[in-house]
Amino acid sequence: MTAPAERLAPPEHRIAYPNVIAGGALDGAREYAADAVVVGTGAGGATAAARLRDAGLDVVMLEEGALHPTETFVTDPATMIRRLYRDAGTTMILGRPPIIFVEGRCVGGSTVINGGMSWPAPERVLAHWEGDLGLPDTGPQAMEPYFAAAERILHVEPNQEDTFGQNTHLFLEGARRLGWPAARAPRNMRRCMGLNNCALGCPTGAKQAMHVTEIPRALAAGAYLVTHARVDRVLWKGRRAIGVRGRFVDDAGRARGRFRAYAPLVVLAAGARHTPGILKRSWLRARAIGRGLHTHPNAKVVGLFDRPLDPWIGTHQAFHIHHFREQGILIGYAAVPPGLLAGALPGVGEENAAWMRQYNHMLTAATLVEDEGEGRVVLGPDRQPYMLFDLSPRDLETVHRGVALTAELLFAAGARRVLLPFADLPLLEGPEQLR
Ligand SMILES: Cc1cc2nc3c(=O)[nH]c(=O)nc-3n(C[C@H](O)[C@H](O)[C@H](O)COP(=O)(O)OP(=O)(O)OC[C@H]3O[C@@H](n4cnc5c(N)ncnc54)[C@H](O)[C@@H]3O)c2cc1C
Repeated sequence: MTAPAERLAPPEHRIAYPNVIAGGALDGAREYAADAVVVGTGAGGATAAARLRDAGLDVVMLEEGALHPTETFVTDPATMIRRLYRDAGTTMILGRPPIIFVEGRCVGGSTVINGGMSWPAPERVLAHWEGDLGLPDTGPQAMEPYFAAAERILHVEPNQEDTFGQNTHLFLEGARRLGWPAARAPRNMRRCMGLNNCALGCPTGAKQAMHVTEIPRALAAGAYLVTHARVDRVLWKGRRAIGVRGRFVDDAGRARGRFRAYAPLVVLAAGARHTPGILKRSWLRARAIGRGLHTHPNAKVVGLFDRPLDPWIGTHQAFHIHHFREQGILIGYAAVPPGLLAGALPGVGEENAAWMRQYNHMLTAATLVEDEGEGRVVLGPDRQPYMLFDLSPRDLETVHRGVALTAELLFAAGARRVLLPFADLPLLEGPEQLR
């Protein structure tokens, strides 16, 4: 007998995940106890769990989704969306207009499917939190060491030039012709190869999401993780939280056994939608719960070029345009996988297929808007949280302006035609139509 061949793969393909209890097949009732229970393993939960473990506390993380190690990732969008996205990416924010909203439901949360842009919050926003909202120690000075630590832990750096594809070069060319400075985006990644697959889970593990950074670190240091554990509500003793309770759910979302987790410290980090949902189901009546929802809407604009661009080759969003930030507008670009872009293009059937046949000639840019309107999270009749949000008239204006600027950039980059995300005005034949 010879020893099994040693697997030579990037370190993120060989991560050990000790202390993981897979809850998907657990029936009956279980109870856990620790010094701290952390609900959710996304950016907030994983970071909190790792810091609490660093401080010597016994920590248990409870996560509704499953653990998908990087070496199990495939590049087929349908498979990965079902595995990593809540409701297979079909959640809607209800309002005028309705907005498609996606979030992760897996160990690592939305960091597994996000773009890996790692900008620190602007000083103006931090000053608003501390000054106007009265949140102590959230101002620029107080937050600086935390941003520095996060950048170190998540290995934040700009993309190397050899990961740029034609999409990056065209985006830069458009910005240069218009005289708009392009800012090099800091990203949490190591050895990025520009595969452009961030939104479906980085198959090389280059993106330093929580399931390859803080979570394995916390587990290696002795924290525990229970997967498929959907927290329903907080448990109280008088006015003090003493734990949480919930159900195990299998991969198909079917409820299995029940669990309770007790700890003197309870951290809810289930994301902007589900944290207020848990609080509301926990008999808390404070008016602020679920209020102040911002959605940062983004609108995609597609430039059609005469020559093929092979838009899937090369990293996305290595640069952003911050030139219009004071107007609440940021412009970036991404190669949206064909399976996702088709849904955003006009028509169905043959008409949609005709657009998609030009996929190789498309550069997709996007405007991300700082919204002033405030939405809220409410519980539906099924006791699940729903998001309500209307774009204010000013937000609508900002979206229109952001879309127009993005279209201008695509024309400046050489696009012959530009597809807009508006039903009544889908196609522009030239920049003069923007006036
Ligand atoms: C497609 C996409 C691209 C993005 N790109 C960027 C980017 O480039 N840069 C950037 O800074 N931000 C980006 N973001 C946003 C960023 O990822 C989120 O702001 C961040 O992950 C939020 O962290 P969180 O911990 O609050 O929530 P999440 O990361 O969403 O984690 C919440 C976790 O809680 C779990 N959970 C929910 N309910 C329960 C429950 N009842 N019981 C147990 N567990 C539960 C969920 O399954 C999930 O794992 C992007 C987001 C998406 C979706």
